[in-house]
Amino acid sequence: MQSGQLDNCIICGRLFLKDHTDSCLECYLEKEHDFNRVADFLESDQNRFATIEEVSDFTNVSLRQIAEFLRDGLIFSEDYPNLGYPCAHCSKLIKRQLLCNECFNRFSTDVNRTLNREKLLDEIQSK
Ligand SMILES: [Zn+2]
Ligand SMILES: [Zn+2]
Repeated sequence: MQSGQLDNCIICGRLFLKDHTDSCLECYLEKEHDFNRVADFLESDQNRFATIEEVSDFTNVSLRQIAEFLRDGLIFSEDYPNLGYPCAHCSKLIKRQLLCNECFNRFSTDVNRTLNREKLLDEIQSK
C-alpha cells in the first residue's frame, strides 16, 4: 500500500489521504470508539454470554459493525459462546467467514467448476 495517496473512504465515501487505513480519520476514530465500547462491555464477566443483539443494544453499536469486528478477529468470539452473526445464506449463528460450514460446502461444490471461492464470497458479500 502506497502512502500519501488520495482515495475514497470505504465507509463514508469522502476523499481522504490514504495512509494505513481504508477509511478517513473521522470514520476510523468512530470505529475505534465503537470498538472500545464493545470491548468494554464484553470485558465484564457477566456479559460473557451476551448475544450480538444484546451487545448492540447496550453499546449502541450497529449489528453490522459488531459482526465486522468478529469477522476481522478484533473480538475473539470463541471466548463468548453466544456471540456470533448470521450466516449470509441460512442465518445460522456463525463466528467467522460469511457462511456456515454447511452452506460453504454446498456453495463451493455447486460452483467449484466455474468460480473460485474468493470470487464467490465477494459476490455474496456485495449483495
Ligand atoms: Zn469516512
Ligand atoms: Zn448457512
